[in-house]
Amino acid sequence: MTNILYDALFKPHQGCSDIFLRMTDGEHISYDDFLSTANRFAAVLQDVGVDIGDRIAVMVDKTPQALAIYAASVQIGAVYLPLNTAYTTTELAYFLNDARPAVLLCDESKYAGIIDIADTVGATVMTLNRDGSGSLAELAREQTRQVDIVERADDDLAAMLYTSGTTGRPKGAMLSHANLLSNSKALVDLWQFSATDVLLHALPIFHTHGLFVAMNVTLLAGSSVIFMSAFNVDTMIEQMPNATVLMGVPTFYTRLLNDPRFNQTLTAHMRLFVSGSAPLLTETHELFSERTGHCILERYGMTETNMNISNPYDGERRPGSVGFPLPGIAARICHPDTGAEMAQGDIGGLEIKGPNVFKGYWNMPEKTREEFTDDGYFITGDLATADKDGYFQIVGRSKDLIITGGFNVYPKEVELSLDDVPEILESAVIGIANKDFGEAVVAVVVLNNRANISESEVLTQISNKLARYKQPKRIFFVDELPRNTMGKVQKNKLRETFMD
Ligand code: ATP
Ligand code: MG
Repeated sequence: MTNILYDALFKPHQGCSDIFLRMTDGEHISYDDFLSTANRFAAVLQDVGVDIGDRIAVMVDKTPQALAIYAASVQIGAVYLPLNTAYTTTELAYFLNDARPAVLLCDESKYAGIIDIADTVGATVMTLNRDGSGSLAELAREQTRQVDIVERADDDLAAMLYTSGTTGRPKGAMLSHANLLSNSKALVDLWQFSATDVLLHALPIFHTHGLFVAMNVTLLAGSSVIFMSAFNVDTMIEQMPNATVLMGVPTFYTRLLNDPRFNQTLTAHMRLFVSGSAPLLTETHELFSERTGHCILERYGMTETNMNISNPYDGERRPGSVGFPLPGIAARICHPDTGAEMAQGDIGGLEIKGPNVFKGYWNMPEKTREEFTDDGYFITGDLATADKDGYFQIVGRSKDLIITGGFNVYPKEVELSLDDVPEILESAVIGIANKDFGEAVVAVVVLNNRANISESEVLTQISNKLARYKQPKRIFFVDELPRNTMGKVQKNKLRETFMD
C-alpha cells in the first residue's frame, strides 16, 4: 500500500528549490518551502489528535498556508474539507454538524462566533489568518519532526467537497485518492501541462475548479502558479505577461474583455485559456478570439466527478460546446424517465462513468443510490446533447427544465434566442408555477449598457424564432443576474423573486 496522491503530487517535489507559488507582492515560495510548511502543519494536526480518515475543515482566506493544509491532510491520511469563506455562522453550523470534522481552521475574526458550534460537534478550532498568522502558525513554529506519509488505499477518501448549492442545499461529495489522481493525470496529458507552465490563479481554492483542476494539475506537472488572493482585473492584466495558462469562470473573461488593455499583445505569452463552472456564451468565445487571437478551451465538470468533458487542445474548440469525454471517461445521454439511450442529436440526461466519479454523498446513502444507474453511471443532473461530430453541449440542469402545458421547454434554447436580440446582454429563463400551464415560461433579462427596449418589443423580435409555447409569458428587466462565487446564475433565487 502507498499513498498515491501524496506520492504523485507532493513527494516528487521534496527538496526541490524551484518556485511553486509566485505571490503578487513579489514573494516567491519554493516547492521545498511549501512542503516544509505542510510537514509542520501535518505534525500539529497529528498532535491535536487528527486521525486517519478524520475530516479537516478549512474555512480561511486563500493563502499559501491554506493550500499547505491540503498537502498536510493528504500526508497524514486525513480528509481535506474546504469550505466557502462566504458561509454565515448558521450555514457553517449545518456543515459542521454534517461533516463532524476533528479540526476546524478559521480566521481569528470568526473565532468567537464559531467556537460554541465547534464545541458541540467536538471539533478543535485553530486559527489561520490572511497574513499567515494565527494559532496554527504558533504551534507549527516549534515543530521539527518529519511526519510519515500515511498509507492509504486508492479508494480511501482524500477530500470531501460540498457542491455549490446552486440547485439546493450543498451535498458533501466524497472523493478518493484515485478519483483525484486519475483526473489530474488526464488533464495534464490533454492540456499538455509541463514544468515550464505558469498558471495564473485567481479562483477560490475551496471549490473543485481552483483546488483540484488548477492545483492538482500544477503539482503533478511541476509547474508554478501566480497565486492571486482573488480575481481582480488590474492585477490580472499586470500579471498576464508572466503567465502561460489561465483557468477561469466565464465572468473572468467577460470582465477582461471589458478592459481595453486586454488585447493580443498582453496575451502573446499565453498558451491556454480554460473556462468552466458555468456556461460560456458563444458571444464571449467569439469576442475573445477576435480580440486576442486565442480560442478559449471550454470544459465541463462538477464537484462529484472533477472534469468529465473537454474541448480538444489540438483541434477545433467549438463555441457553445464542452467537447469530448476525457480519455478513460464514458459519457452517455439517456432518457430521464426510462434510462434508454437517446438518439444522436436528442436532448437527455447526461450520465458519466469513470475513475473520476466520486464515492457517494456524505451521510446521504439514499440520495447516492438514486443518482447512480444499475450499470454504475452517475446521473449528473445536467441535460446535454451531442452533435454528429461527437461534441457535447450542456443544455442546462434537469431541475431547470420547464414543463408548460405538457410541453418541455429547455431554458437554454429560449435564452439563446433572447441573447440574439441586440439590446439584450444576457438572460435567464425560469419556470414559475402557474394554474393554467403547470409552469409558465418567464424570462429575466439584462440589457446592454444604455440600451432600451420594451417587453413587447422583445417578444415581437423572438416571436418567429420560437414556437408559441416556448415564448416567455413575461419578461422582467434587471440590472444583473444573481450569481454565486463561481459565477453561476442562481435560478432558485430568481424563481423566488418572480414567484408571484
Ligand atoms: P449543486 O449541485 O449543489 O446544486 P452545482 O451543481 O452548481 O451545485 P458544482 O459541482 O460546483 O455545484 O457545479 C457543477 C455544475 O456546474 C455542473 O453540474 C453544471 O451544471 C455546471 N457546469 C460546469 N461546467 C459547465 C460548463 N462548461 N457549461 C455549463 N455548465 C457547466
Ligand atoms: Mg450539482
